[in-house]
Amino acid sequence: MTVVTRFAPSPTGYLHVGGARTALYSWLYAKSQGGKFVLRIEDTDIERSTQAAIDAILEGMEWLGLSWDDGPYYQTQRFDRYKEFVQQLLGEGKAYKCYCSRERLDQIREQQMAAGQKPKYDGKCRHGVEQDGDYVIRFKNPLQGSVVINDHIRGKIEIANSELDDLIIQRTDGVPTYNFCVVIDDWDMGITHVVRGEDHINNTPRQINILEALGAPVPEYAHVSMILGDDGKKLSKRHGAVGVMQYRDDGFLPQALLNYLVRLGWSHGDQEIFSLEEMIEYFSLDDIGQSASAFNTDKLIWLNQHYIKSLPVAEVAKHAQWHFEQQGIDTSQGPALEKVISIQADRVKTLKELAEISSYFYQEYDQLDANAAKKHLRPVAQEALELVKTKLQSITDWTAENIHAAINATAEQLEVGMGKVGMPLRVAATGSGNSPSLDVTLELLTFEQVAQRIDKALKYIANRTNS
Ligand code: GLU
Repeated sequence: MTVVTRFAPSPTGYLHVGGARTALYSWLYAKSQGGKFVLRIEDTDIERSTQAAIDAILEGMEWLGLSWDDGPYYQTQRFDRYKEFVQQLLGEGKAYKCYCSRERLDQIREQQMAAGQKPKYDGKCRHGVEQDGDYVIRFKNPLQGSVVINDHIRGKIEIANSELDDLIIQRTDGVPTYNFCVVIDDWDMGITHVVRGEDHINNTPRQINILEALGAPVPEYAHVSMILGDDGKKLSKRHGAVGVMQYRDDGFLPQALLNYLVRLGWSHGDQEIFSLEEMIEYFSLDDIGQSASAFNTDKLIWLNQHYIKSLPVAEVAKHAQWHFEQQGIDTSQGPALEKVISIQADRVKTLKELAEISSYFYQEYDQLDANAAKKHLRPVAQEALELVKTKLQSITDWTAENIHAAINATAEQLEVGMGKVGMPLRVAATGSGNSPSLDVTLELLTFEQVAQRIDKALKYIANRTNS
């Protein structure tokens, strides 16, 4: 049997982290079994579904690299198919037209509730005859027995059929209902494993009964627990970024988010870091935990730092490029982004920060960091800056080694410590008191750029002396 899984989001909002984790688990399971992963957009709720949400979901999936083998299917394009099966069930006496008015349904509901019973359709039209007037179509749920689900995560779940309603499968306006569409889709698309949020667990026995009535195979199920915020409450917008693309905007690598999400509920021993290949190799539905997992931003940041430092630099550059562009920094002139990343990687938590602290490689800094300038660009630094400029100018081969030697020689000649030359030079060249080691930093600039910035610093010192 070829494993086929699916991710079936409703496009009523962006792709949030809970959805992304479900998609990842579903995707991983398909990959781990050499199977197929289907993407299906469940857009039957026309009022709440939007094209913007569809685009956001596709964008999120693509950014995470969760590519689909089949789809995206859209339920709104499949109404004829669903109606065909509604008619089939009707013809076989497995579904029936229900003419009960809203008033009647409200009335029985009130009575049942007053009697302390669970509200449920009383089955009046189950054996009724054709009449004129509006009707919905209901599925004849079995009256006896029970539905058993051997859930990969939650174990055996048994629901008595007496608990289940005769579900409406087609509304008065002729539109098939959500649960029915899911059933037909899962069957048509050959889904063997349904991985979805635990909020759908109540739908599962109803869907299984319909599948059985159609003579369709019943897939296996894995209902994933929800994600809580770090305060133990259901994850929501209050907890900061919950849309996947917000993490991109905040400077996270997809590799970090995927690694974070896979561990949020699934484990393989005590391993924390997983390459995609390892995730695929070790993933199993049965190792997903039952309890809800709490989101931990610090851990995500830790993983992001890890991946910024350890992924091939070209891969980091691919994602970092976007952040430079967002910040209006043109990297087409100046040092190769890879080189900048290789010296800045262990100084940042996010790619956004990386771009922020690296702008001086590509453009003139707007102004000197006030504190650093005050501290390091003092009149005593004038001589050091002038001398180091001359020494840098005489370098024929602009390498970190030669730059280092020039700074050294300046300090020796002036009989001061390296810092007395290095710090003013750092502030002059980068505009701030923080940068990677000065020789490798300057190596990525040109002598002309450094000289011009030294002049600017000298002007600052001169102004300071005059004022
Ligand atoms: N469309 C549903 C949702 O977004 C998922 C349904 C399913 O996976 O069966 O919650």
